[in-house]
Amino acid sequence: MEKTLRGVGVSHGVAIGQVRHMGTAVLEPPATQIPTEDAPREQARAQAAVEAVAADLIARGNLAGGEAQAVLEAQALMAQDPELMADVSRRITVGSSAERGVYDAFAAYRALLASAGDYLAGRVADLDDVRNRIVARLLGVPMPGVPDSDEPYVLFARDLAPADTALLDPTLVLGFVTEEGGPTSHSAILARAMGVPAVVALPAATDVAEGTVVAVDGSSGDVLVNPSQEKQDELRAVAAERKAALATSSGPGQTSDGHRVPLLANVGGPADVPAALENGAEGVGLFRTEFLFLDDSAKAPSEEKQVEAYRKVLEAFPEGRVVVRALDAGADKPLDFLTPADEPNPALGVRGLRTLLEHPEVLQTQLRALAKAAEGLPVHLEVMAPMVADRKDAKDFAQACREAGLETKFGAMVEIPSAALRARAILQEVEFLSLGTNDLAQYTFAADRQVGALARLQDPWQPALLDLIAAAAEAAHATGKSCGVCGEAAADPLLAVVLTGLGVTSLSMGSASIPYVRATLAKYTLAQCRRAAEAARATDSAEEARAAAQQVLSGE
Ligand code: PEP
Ligand code: MG
Repeated sequence: MEKTLRGVGVSHGVAIGQVRHMGTAVLEPPATQIPTEDAPREQARAQAAVEAVAADLIARGNLAGGEAQAVLEAQALMAQDPELMADVSRRITVGSSAERGVYDAFAAYRALLASAGDYLAGRVADLDDVRNRIVARLLGVPMPGVPDSDEPYVLFARDLAPADTALLDPTLVLGFVTEEGGPTSHSAILARAMGVPAVVALPAATDVAEGTVVAVDGSSGDVLVNPSQEKQDELRAVAAERKAALATSSGPGQTSDGHRVPLLANVGGPADVPAALENGAEGVGLFRTEFLFLDDSAKAPSEEKQVEAYRKVLEAFPEGRVVVRALDAGADKPLDFLTPADEPNPALGVRGLRTLLEHPEVLQTQLRALAKAAEGLPVHLEVMAPMVADRKDAKDFAQACREAGLETKFGAMVEIPSAALRARAILQEVEFLSLGTNDLAQYTFAADRQVGALARLQDPWQPALLDLIAAAAEAAHATGKSCGVCGEAAADPLLAVVLTGLGVTSLSMGSASIPYVRATLAKYTLAQCRRAAEAARATDSAEEARAAAQQVLSGE
């Protein structure tokens, strides 16, 4: 039966396809005792599941090729390890079910690996993945992690962590729907980076059955379950129309009366560069370098590896501006070698610049790598610090940049209300500001950005957030410096108009949003942008602010 579910639309467009759920962690199988006569049957089940999982891993390896193939083949060997299988079989003989035998035998082997030095300890995650696959097969539940599918699908999940999303095949994922997460969560950011429609904070997302056909409208936040063929055709036609209208938008970002607002891309590494160029990004406003560090969260990537990745991004924008953010580890982006495991409240703990100042060697290596990467290139490299709280933070960061011999502009991200309120003081130490509205909303409203139930408070249209943005932009204007926005707020076309009216000097966003923002900004004069901003700030809620801006812009 056709029905509509409503969440928060965070990435434009319409996706129609079958639901595939992100497999959740495998539950511990019950430790019930099985009768002795069932042992041979359980052993055969275990053997068959192991063989099927190994064959599947090898097949996926053949498809993937390269380094991934070697990893998947090593996992297939783990699955078939004769000693491990003998232990499973022994456990079944003394009364375990197939799934429990596999679960316990892998746990024993895991403990051995974990205590056997760095290299083998690093294989524990691979071993857990193999165990989860075998147990899931035996229990008849979806495989954990990214769905195995050869057909394009709409991904449904409770929430997505950066580590999960690194494995997604962008040619297969038509769109995302998540139960948790707000407009600034990783799922939303990733969806925009991939240019696929997404809806987050949809309460019943995990109840929609696997294989159900859905239509996801990433603008309205509506998810149609079992849409009729007629409805599907209608939605496809509307999406095609919108896309065609966008294709006509090109050139630099500006208002209809020529006030320039450079439109920049948010990237996570060289892989995001082609989309940025295709969408006409005038540079990079936020290079989230932590993705480079996620490959192996046990240690920092070498200076050489960093130089290589940074250079690839810098080379892509010969005359453009590329703003690189120093590593932002901690809280929702923990790294084993840097982030304390026992913080009572990681979002309020040692994260961002605080981590870097505690580990100056990590910061110095990164800054040196950036200086080397930019050598001989005409690009305008700029470097900024995440989570700057006050003037002392800004000063310490500027000092570290000078020590590393960086001859670039350095700036501060405004993600903490104190930084917006005292932006003038911060600008005594650095040359530009960049508003990270995702964290700024989180800290202004004391609302965790990962929690779907708090999406209302993370809405970047909240007038209190607009006030803080205005304060930072005014300080930059008064000191003759620039103040961009690189949080997800910049990706909302109507809000981009308001941000321009508030005095923001550049907008950086997931590349797929650039054409929407460019086309909308080009419709209004700077004076209209200012009037819309004033009207939005004069309200008391996000909904009212949105409506007020809309009214000003449509009435003129
Ligand atoms: C932000 O907080 O707005 C921001 C751009 O940084 P991130 O989303 O990576 O925390
Ligand atoms: Mg942030």
